[in-house]
Amino acid sequence: MISLVSVDVHEAESLVLEVLRSGQLAQGPMVERLEKAIGQWAGVEHAVAVSSGTAAILLSLQAWELKPGDEVITSPFTFSATLNAIITSGATASFVDIHPDDFNIDPELLEARINDRTKVLLPVDLYGQTADMASIEKIAVKNRLKIVEDAAQAIGSSQFGRPAGSFGAGCFSLYATKNVTAGEGGVVTTDDGELADRIRLLRNQGMRDRYDYRRIGGNHRLSDLHAAVGLSQFAHLQEFSEKRAYNADRLSDGLAGIPGLLLPRTIPGRTHVWNQYTLRVTEDASCSRDELAAQLARNGIASGHFYPRPVFDYPCYRGHPQIVRAAVPVAARTAAEVLSLPVHPGLTDADLDRVIRETRAALRG
Ligand SMILES: *Cc1c(COP(=O)(O)O)cnc(C)c1O
Repeated sequence: MISLVSVDVHEAESLVLEVLRSGQLAQGPMVERLEKAIGQWAGVEHAVAVSSGTAAILLSLQAWELKPGDEVITSPFTFSATLNAIITSGATASFVDIHPDDFNIDPELLEARINDRTKVLLPVDLYGQTADMASIEKIAVKNRLKIVEDAAQAIGSSQFGRPAGSFGAGCFSLYATKNVTAGEGGVVTTDDGELADRIRLLRNQGMRDRYDYRRIGGNHRLSDLHAAVGLSQFAHLQEFSEKRAYNADRLSDGLAGIPGLLLPRTIPGRTHVWNQYTLRVTEDASCSRDELAAQLARNGIASGHFYPRPVFDYPCYRGHPQIVRAAVPVAARTAAEVLSLPVHPGLTDADLDRVIRETRAALRG
């Protein structure tokens, strides 16, 4: 079976052993080393490691002390974590449709959604390519809004030389399916010292020093054990990204010219780190997206469907007082067309060629 995700963490052994032998398993020096490494890479002054990507988004929002009714504008085409963090923070989520070229928020549609209650823009860097952060940053400055960037899938990517996570509060995930993993974990990157300080308080029960409570926080700490795994993975970020890009190029070369099949694009000025390689199977294709997925599965090739619907379009979110629904026709259509193929660094050329062959066979391309 050619799987959708591969994780090679055997090199973590020595760092994990270092943690075990130190006896300091909870947040400590290994977390600090991880923060330093990720902060340096993102070119920001502060990196704060937390327990998950969801916590990174939640604490970034909580740090701004949003009041009930304050609005956070985000993408409808994302994982539920983005929306859950907004709702948990007490704010209201509102949505701007995506652009079909990069699957991310369409900045052209953004200003029309901004109103007096809007406080934060929360774009998502889907599949490993940043949203149009340059345009989003201009709109944020003009309207005095904060930026929280959901870069969970985009560690290592950049835009006109600026790394993902350097545009406000950058939120990364170290979950098992992300390009750099610690098993579980997250990081917030920012140049804003006050924001970083607040997030440090919030992750540890609001304490400045022991029992010196300054805010109502929680336990969102990362352990040194997880940080050891994350650090050993992070050392390979460049190599992982290059292998993913090589794999994506090979897939795109092999899949070019099939009627009705749209290949993923890298927008000029941006780098893509290919957390997912995502096709669009349009109605002009010779079989449906679901038939293609079934045919691949029969031939031992996993594929993924990220995401089946606009994120707010589930019973648990319908009618929720903290959600402002919007018509998002591009996201709705895209959700019906997308299919992600294996692109992870563990694939061989033979694996990739098999994925190409079976995809072509299914689409009679
Ligand atoms: C993975 C992911 C998250 C959440 O990260 P966790 O570490 O799983 O909490 C948030 N947003 C997006 C887009 C993700 O892919």
